[in-house]
Amino acid sequence: KEATDINTLVEEYMRLSYHGVRAKEKSFNATLNTNFDAGVGKVDIIPQDVGRVILNLVTNALHATGEKKKNAGDTYEPVVTVGTQRLKDKILVTVQDNGSGIADAIKEKIFQPFFTTKPTGQGTGLGLSLSYDIIKAHNGDITVASAVNEGTTFTIELPV
Ligand code: ADP
Ligand code: MG
Repeated sequence: KEATDINTLVEEYMRLSYHGVRAKEKSFNATLNTNFDAGVGKVDIIPQDVGRVILNLVTNALHATGEKKKNAGDTYEPVVTVGTQRLKDKILVTVQDNGSGIADAIKEKIFQPFFTTKPTGQGTGLGLSLSYDIIKAHNGDITVASAVNEGTTFTIELPV
């Protein structure tokens, strides 16, 4: 583990995700916003591992806006917002999208290895399972709140 500036790490990996998705999807036009708490500071983490979690969550969020776009009208504006927050003894990182949302029956399964709703060849179903393991290995927590057709927010908690 190393003392890692959380905002810098989150920014770096969300950009990686954005450029990765944009390179693959022609119709991509999501807006990526940040809502960073300047007081978040440094936390002892394995930076590549937590970075991988950010990459997974932002990539999923961008895909979810793509899914919603297939059904929504032209007025739909896909937005993904990544935020950081410092609480007393922990930090929060949130990844919020206004995409397709997750039905309750599916919500129970998303952290299981190989669970995916993506077409064959497009999703491994390993992103959230790996993310869960990484965050648990940091003694943190990862939770999801979602409403179908409204959007989804994943929250990562890491102890300081
Ligand atoms: P993959 O992305 O390869 O499908 P993940 O483990 O990253 O695997 O995600 C598992 C499933 O969880 C996805 O297939 C999708 O159904 C659902 N999911 C994850 N993130 C979101 C999101 N932000 N919005 C809607 N569905 C999501
Ligand atoms: Mg994924």
